[in-house]
Amino acid sequence: MAERTDIAIIGSGPAGMSAAITATARGRSIMLFGSTAVSEKLSKAHQINNYPGFYGKSGEEIAAAFNAHLGAMDISVTQGKVGSIYSMGDYFSMAVDSDVYEASTVILASGVSFGRPLPGEDEHLGRGVSYCATCDGMLYRGRKAAVLAYAPEEEREADFLASIGVKVDYIPVYKDEPVLQNEMNIICGAQPESIEGEGKVEKLVLKDGTELEEDVVFILRSSIAPDKIISGLELDGNHVKVDRGMRTNIPGFFAAGDITGTPYQYVKAAGEGNVAALSAVSYIDGLSRK
Ligand SMILES: Cc1cc2nc3c(=O)[nH]c(=O)nc-3n(C[C@H](O)[C@H](O)[C@H](O)COP(=O)(O)OP(=O)(O)OC[C@H]3O[C@@H](n4cnc5c(N)ncnc54)[C@H](O)[C@@H]3O)c2cc1C
Repeated sequence: MAERTDIAIIGSGPAGMSAAITATARGRSIMLFGSTAVSEKLSKAHQINNYPGFYGKSGEEIAAAFNAHLGAMDISVTQGKVGSIYSMGDYFSMAVDSDVYEASTVILASGVSFGRPLPGEDEHLGRGVSYCATCDGMLYRGRKAAVLAYAPEEEREADFLASIGVKVDYIPVYKDEPVLQNEMNIICGAQPESIEGEGKVEKLVLKDGTELEEDVVFILRSSIAPDKIISGLELDGNHVKVDRGMRTNIPGFFAAGDITGTPYQYVKAAGEGNVAALSAVSYIDGLSRK
């Protein structure tokens, strides 16, 4: 059985890091999911002038300072992407790549992903559209898969698919030259137009009119839309609806940072992470009093 922690924090940007620091300071067990590179939106920023105490620093320098802070408090980041979360009543269950974790509360701090779903994406979710190659890859051994990769980090997912015998069409939707270890069909410079099929995925259509016959389309963005991660989550437009305690409509489920809405700012994200962690701690205290 998976070990249950008090608070699972999804996202290692300023919001998630701040939540992890506060929850740890309050003596709660945590799991922090994300990347040791912190957040691309932080590490790639050229110069940051509005984070108190860090005037004129680069994102890379601030990310290093954040990591040092985590290290000093013995907080580690579990590398991996949370693909789905299920509310189990008094706890949450999370699928992270091929592992399952449990937590009494969750703080979603996964940032915003820009861009709308592709035409056909929502309709085929679970019927040939997947956001996790590690979770669903085995179902497609010997069959055809398109991998729409929005960042170079997704190359390892495509390599995994090819290594287990999936026939991969790899479409990098980013500027860098892809570096892949396994044999696959790499289609550079293409943009996806739509996903089509009757009841299940049959093809991926590209903007130049090319039609690729596929059994599955893996859409690998750095951030998954919040209502796709957990069902029943109330949104306000593209953002998660929260109150001033960063509580969502799902008891025990909190959100912080860009994912709760504008302004998109480091300091606002870090502040909300702090509030969400304090609310999660109060929630857990309430559970143990029951
Ligand atoms: C180029 C650039 C420059 C900027 N400059 C400034 C500035 O000068 N000042 C300022 O205040 N703001 C600036 N911003 C805005 C700032 O980057 C964001 O407001 C801030 O990073 C939001 O923090 P966050 O923690 O909410 O999300 P993010 O920083 O986006 O972090 C989210 C984290 O969650 C991870 N994640 C996502 N989904 C999952 C999942 N399913 N499982 C596990 N992990 C997941 C991501 O990999 C990422 O690590 C800038 C943004 C950009 C793009």
